[in-house]
Amino acid sequence: MKIRDIRTHLLKAPLGDKRFYSSQAAFPARTSLLVEVIAEDGRVGWGEGGQWGPTEPPAAVIEQIFKPMLIGRSVHDVTRIWEELYGYTRDFARRGPYLEAQSALDVALWDLKGQDLGVPIHSLFGGAFRDSVPAYATGCYYRGADVHDEAAVLEALKKEAASYVEAGFSILKIKTGLWPVDKDAKRIAAVREAVGPDIALLSDANHAYRASDALRVGRILEEYGYLMFEEPVPPEDLDGYRRLRSSLNIAIAGGECEYTRWGFRDLIVGGTLDIVQPDISVAGGLSEFAKILALATAYNLMVLPHVWGSGIALAASLQALAIIPESPYRAFPLPFETEPIVEFDRNPNPLRDDLITTPFSLVDGRLPVPQKPGLGVEVNREVLKKYTT
Ligand SMILES: [Mg+2]
Repeated sequence: MKIRDIRTHLLKAPLGDKRFYSSQAAFPARTSLLVEVIAEDGRVGWGEGGQWGPTEPPAAVIEQIFKPMLIGRSVHDVTRIWEELYGYTRDFARRGPYLEAQSALDVALWDLKGQDLGVPIHSLFGGAFRDSVPAYATGCYYRGADVHDEAAVLEALKKEAASYVEAGFSILKIKTGLWPVDKDAKRIAAVREAVGPDIALLSDANHAYRASDALRVGRILEEYGYLMFEEPVPPEDLDGYRRLRSSLNIAIAGGECEYTRWGFRDLIVGGTLDIVQPDISVAGGLSEFAKILALATAYNLMVLPHVWGSGIALAASLQALAIIPESPYRAFPLPFETEPIVEFDRNPNPLRDDLITTPFSLVDGRLPVPQKPGLGVEVNREVLKKYTT
């Protein structure tokens, strides 16, 4: 089955007064770059490129550079095509929009290959270890950079944290890093107080700290029994990562800003991480994910894909999560300790909830791995049109 055409879709869903903040940025809208690869028989494969950055640069790479190279190629040559695109652009690319573009195309091609063979993507990678994945809620962001009524903010945060437990989650990830360390300590404590001792808590700073401040935050997280400290320091600060990993009794996670097996090689072999977090839409798609997974398991590390985008990115991540073995193996898998968990962003995002015809929802604390051929999800064309910029 050959590729007949490739289309890019730049999507934007404004959030109005539901905007929120991480330590790095305000999110006034949710955006996604989708790629649609059309086969000669009219079937289509979907992929997503990038996480929250601008959608125009990877779209331009697809339209102007990769598309002319791919028309007429077989949808079955997915990994070969990946290597060719990477090799052709190596001298001037290797990261950023080029890899976001490759990620999107790679997933779309796996989608088409699976459809042509009548099997889900996880089957093409050797079979699934699970047909559903324990989910953690990603929430408890900042609602405004300049909110001064601390008591009201903490009360709202506690309510939000409790609502995730109510919804059936037993694992929750919160943000730190926008407020000063001493004030963030109150947020860390408030969430623990709201959910009680039996809920697993994770944290994510989006690389907000110098290593010395991250160490202070890490001690507070330890005190309240948090299990993971994600992106404590900027991704370039490998020494900072190593310092935290050797000093703290909490799993150090990172990798959502990293690309390809070569980027992850430096993080993994460099001893920076306990939990490796490639984003399927960023690091190079599913072909590259399989290579990063192999590298990580050789070092006895857990791989938990970073997930942020639309329903397409979530579907691709669930296909990836299906092929992660227990790390390490145990007779009875335990979520997070040995069994991978899926990041289920709970911030408002119509592109996640409305864009695919069968949106994902929690069943007994887990998300199902799509079982239909390819990615296993379909795009609602009306919703696609509604949010196209
Ligand atoms: Mg993160």
